[in-house]
Amino acid sequence: METLQTFRQDTRNWLEQNCPDSMRVTAGRSAPSETGDDQTVWGGKNAVFPSDDARLWLERMGAKGWTCPTWPTEYGGGGLDKEQNFVLQQELARIKAKPALTSFGISMLGPVLLEFGNEEQKQAHLPSIVRGEIRWCQGYSEPGSGSDLASLQTKAVLEGDHYTINGSKVWTSYANHADWIFCLVRTDFDAPKHNGISFILFDMTTTGVTTKPIQLISGASPFCETFFDDVNVPRENLVGPLNDGWTIAKRLLQHERTMISGMGMGGSSKKGANSIPEQAKRYAGESKNKIANAALRDRILRHQMNGQAFAVTLKRSAEEAKLSTGPSATSSMFKYYGTEQNKNRYEVMLDLMGTNSLAWEGDEFKANELSTTREWLRSKANSIEGGTSEVQLNIIAKRVLALPD
Ligand SMILES: Cc1cc2nc3c(=O)[nH]c(=O)nc-3n(C[C@H](O)[C@H](O)[C@H](O)COP(=O)(O)OP(=O)(O)OC[C@H]3O[C@@H](n4cnc5c(N)ncnc54)[C@H](O)[C@@H]3O)c2cc1C
Repeated sequence: METLQTFRQDTRNWLEQNCPDSMRVTAGRSAPSETGDDQTVWGGKNAVFPSDDARLWLERMGAKGWTCPTWPTEYGGGGLDKEQNFVLQQELARIKAKPALTSFGISMLGPVLLEFGNEEQKQAHLPSIVRGEIRWCQGYSEPGSGSDLASLQTKAVLEGDHYTINGSKVWTSYANHADWIFCLVRTDFDAPKHNGISFILFDMTTTGVTTKPIQLISGASPFCETFFDDVNVPRENLVGPLNDGWTIAKRLLQHERTMISGMGMGGSSKKGANSIPEQAKRYAGESKNKIANAALRDRILRHQMNGQAFAVTLKRSAEEAKLSTGPSATSSMFKYYGTEQNKNRYEVMLDLMGTNSLAWEGDEFKANELSTTREWLRSKANSIEGGTSEVQLNIIAKRVLALPD
């Protein structure tokens, strides 16, 4: 316990000295978004930083390994155990520090490389993820393979020392900004569909890779169509055994779903003027320090209670996970509930904003109204990305509740 207290004090001192003031104003955003005012630092060779302080913050956190606090130090990580990481997260929250780096490398690829990658692959990729030097995208979905992901058709053929890859992916988030891709390819067309898939990594600048951004109704282009025409990828870029990529693919999805489920925490924990109850008082009026409209009050209370219950359940599950090796099919429960809760939060927000929720552009709207409307629209995608809610319910039925097919 003494050691943990010393660690807390050292951490507090380090953050005091190294976290720039302008990085201590958590915007309260629940998840990275494509709403145009995004302050998220994604890293990569062509990284765009919202400020010099954001760049400095990433450099310092990356050098310390605290962008990936629990990864081993030999791969650039912080080498912290779970208790130390918990303290670090508390201290970051205490000073309202903005995340130094958000990336698919951290939340998805890194954990599976640690589990399934060979030593060369870990050395080659993990340190650059920690320091935010390489930005990754996820090549899973295809035009005919979304929920039924295992039916994917992108083909990789071994020819001497390399695979030749042909096919296309869709909804590849930020593929046009990514340096590398982690990709599912079919390497055996005769085997049952789950048994002919492999997991491979390659550079997005390789000849034959092209991306085409998809424009959304919001005007944003957060994802792309991605095409592979005779793309040569060194055979050593295959992760895990040939034709056993489905095991890795599923594990990565569990990490992705765990990350997405955190959205359900957004907002419920917000305190002060930006909390939903305080905003409700401003929009709907207050009576005796309560939200005046009883129906709205009831709805917000219900939402807040669900948020608190979800937070406590997540915490309990994290405690239980200390005893296991990693995420499991239960990540589908949290993904399902967390994304529904997040969507509900924006529905509540829009209801209480009334006609101001029509905000799209113009000086007559406040900045938070403009961003809330865009975030509401974005929240609809939460229960689709990383596998739809219906698919999560199927997984829960089969893998958690063990119900018959
Ligand atoms: C914001 C966002 C970002 C994304 N980023 C990426 C990315 O970076 N990389 C990537 O590879 N993909 C990405 N995706 C794609 C995402 O994984 C797919 O959209 C998702 O898996 C659903 O596939 P689909 O769109 O083909 O829908 P479909 O599979 O065609 O589903 C259509 C509808 O049918 C329902 N349905 C399908 N099968 C069943 C079933 N068996 N039982 C019950 N209902 C069913 C679904 O729930 C859905 O409502 C992203 C999607 C979004 C929205």
